[in-house]
Amino acid sequence: MKRASGLQRFMNRRASASHRYQPTCYEHAANCYTHALLVVPAFMGMALLHRRSDGGWQQLTALVYGLGLIALFLVSSVFHVISWKKSHMRSVEHCFHMCDRVVIYFFIAASYTPWLNLRELGPLAAHMRWFVWFMAAAGSVYVFNFHERYKLVELAFYLTMGFFPASVFTSMTNAEGLSELAFGGFLYCLGVFFFKSDGVIPFAHAIWHVFVALAAAVHYYAIWKYLYRSPPQS
Ligand SMILES: [Zn+2]
Repeated sequence: MKRASGLQRFMNRRASASHRYQPTCYEHAANCYTHALLVVPAFMGMALLHRRSDGGWQQLTALVYGLGLIALFLVSSVFHVISWKKSHMRSVEHCFHMCDRVVIYFFIAASYTPWLNLRELGPLAAHMRWFVWFMAAAGSVYVFNFHERYKLVELAFYLTMGFFPASVFTSMTNAEGLSELAFGGFLYCLGVFFFKSDGVIPFAHAIWHVFVALAAAVHYYAIWKYLYRSPPQS
């Protein structure tokens, strides 16, 4: 019993299906810092890929991917700060919570973009270049209409968006980096367990943030290593 009351300090009671979990102040702080600290590294990561680019198409791809990374950590940080300070800003908080969810769809599309743009794909698979953005837009429309109403449907949408575009990799002749890509995907999936554990595990949402950061770092490394090779030194 003593242990349970000790944990209670760091965690509130689990929310009902139709309500949002209310983090403790410790959890709010962890939620903010775990993503706010990554905004600047994401910006630097984008600049690095842009510098390594060989031609306009690679540069544009670096910008799209980098902006996806920056947007994810920035929007998430702003939402968590507002959610922490809140009370009189309920509608602003609600709006940022929707943005926090919408940005995940665009982040997934942006994460696939370097692979879809810079690797050779089969004629049918090449359509995935625009289809990922269509999926992100469809997911956003869903969030604006049914935000928080059907949490399992929302999760199913994220998983579909996360895995379906990977089907095009079967048409790639060059499979370099795909094991890193799969490992990153595995880390995201592990993170989902914590994403769904608010009120069961203390700091569950911040742990989810850490898994997102680790998975994004693994994917960044694969993109940097295999898709943006530095030109051979002569
Ligand atoms: Zn978050």
